[in-house]
Formats: sequence, C-alpha cells, structure tokens
Amino acid sequence: MFNLLSDSILLHIRTFILGDISTHVSLSQTCRRFRKLYENDESFWQLVCFSAGFGRPRRRGNPDEHLTWRQVAHVLSSHHRTCEIRSCRDAHLYFAKRYRTSSRRSIKTPVSAQQGVVFHSLYFYLHCNQLSPGEAFAYIPVPDAISILLTHLPTFPECRNSQYGPLCSHPNASCTFATFPAVDTISFQDADGRTFLNVSNSDGCTILDVNRALAELIPRDQAPVEVALAHYRDLVQTSGLSLAQFADMVSEQKGFLDDHEYPFLNELVAQA
Ligand SMILES: [Zn+2]
Repeated sequence: MFNLLSDSILLHIRTFILGDISTHVSLSQTCRRFRKLYENDESFWQLVCFSAGFGRPRRRGNPDEHLTWRQVAHVLSSHHRTCEIRSCRDAHLYFAKRYRTSSRRSIKTPVSAQQGVVFHSLYFYLHCNQLSPGEAFAYIPVPDAISILLTHLPTFPECRNSQYGPLCSHPNASCTFATFPAVDTISFQDADGRTFLNVSNSDGCTILDVNRALAELIPRDQAPVEVALAHYRDLVQTSGLSLAQFADMVSEQKGFLDDHEYPFLNELVAQA
C-alpha cells in the first residue's frame, strides 16, 4: 500500500506521530524507501526529539562535536527499552500535557524568554535534598553539593544496566529538557538576586547541561571529597579490585556522550 503513496504524502503522514521517537526509529529501518526518507533529515529528527521533550546535551571539551539528532533519537529509543528506572524512561512525559495544550507546541527551537518557565521535577529530585511534602510548599529547594555529587559517581557493580550509575549513563533523563518551555539559557540567582550560574545550550538546556554546570560549583573541600572517596572505597571492596584497577575500570565508563569525568577519582588513585 505504501508503494501507492507519493513521498510528499508519506512525509506528511509522519508529522502526525511527531513525538513518538521509537516509531520513527522503527519506520526509518523498515525498508529502503523509508530509510531514504529519514536519512540525513536532521531537522526532522530534531523536531521528533523536541516534540517528545528531548534536547541534545552539550559535550565536554568540544561542544561542537555533538551527536547528530538521528543518533540522539536512536540512543533514546534504545535506552527506553532497557532502562529499569521509570523516572528516566518516562522523564519526557512530565511536560507532555503542557506540550499538548500549549500554544508553543509547534516551536522547534528553544526560547530565550524566561518568564513562566517551569523546572522539570528531575531537576529537584537529582540536585536537592529530598523534602517532606509539607516542606515542599514552604520554600523552593536549593541545589545541594552532596546530592549533585552523587549523580556523578559510578554504580555498584552488581546493579544491572547502571541502575545507580552517573546521570550521563541514562540518556533519556539526561536529554530531557530541564524546563518548559525549553530555553537556551537558564540563570541561577542567589537569595540577593545575584546571578551565580548561567547554563547555556543553543539546542535547549537539558537536565544533563544543568547537572554538569551545578557540579562545577561543588567546592573542592573536605566534605565532598570524603563522600566521594567513601563511595569509591565501598565499590572497591565489593569489586575485589585494587584501587588503581578500579579507577581504570571506572574511568572507561564515560556515558552516552563518551565524556564523563568522575569527581575526585584522582584523589583515590593518589591513595593507591
Ligand atoms: Zn535510564
């Protein structure tokens, strides 16, 4: 039946399922004709990711060496099938209703205005001390150095699929936009209204962009170092490896952007 339809009709039909990444990935692999329709159509893959609530986090080092939008869609579709953590698998659904009902639903690029911007629940979950429901209404939780640090540390070896791995081993949570609507810059201000951090990504700031910018603010003083080293030593003990072997093994696991750096791992190696 598809053979009877023209390319322009097929291109029109695929816009009806914009935010359904897995269906587009499957369709793009179905037959030669679909492969050709999807091949090198970066702006369509971007629209598919964007419509589902996903962006493309910046890479460390050279941010221009990013994944293509097609690669992002494939990584997300594949991780969605295997990840055991629901808040990662379904992270993009948090704003689904807003995407459906907002007049901004058709935007293809992030906006710069910050008025009316709402943070994703993962931003609070990953970076702030957990509050009881009563407290949550009393004040806006502020990021906490140790909570942020824990999202950068490795997993326990017996966990399947990096269940407690660093955030960057979970592409779906990482690529989810940190805000609705997606914005290209998020400014963080202290209690006196002074800006202490700007997070920027011209493709829209994601949870991972915010997470990494916050991690840069972790003070290199005793408390975070001790938490990280105690965590590493627990893992070393479970693994049966030497400190140096463990550090080598861990630093090989660099997440889906192949760029993760483990905090205070050098301090651990120095003790070996
Ligand atoms: Zn995951």
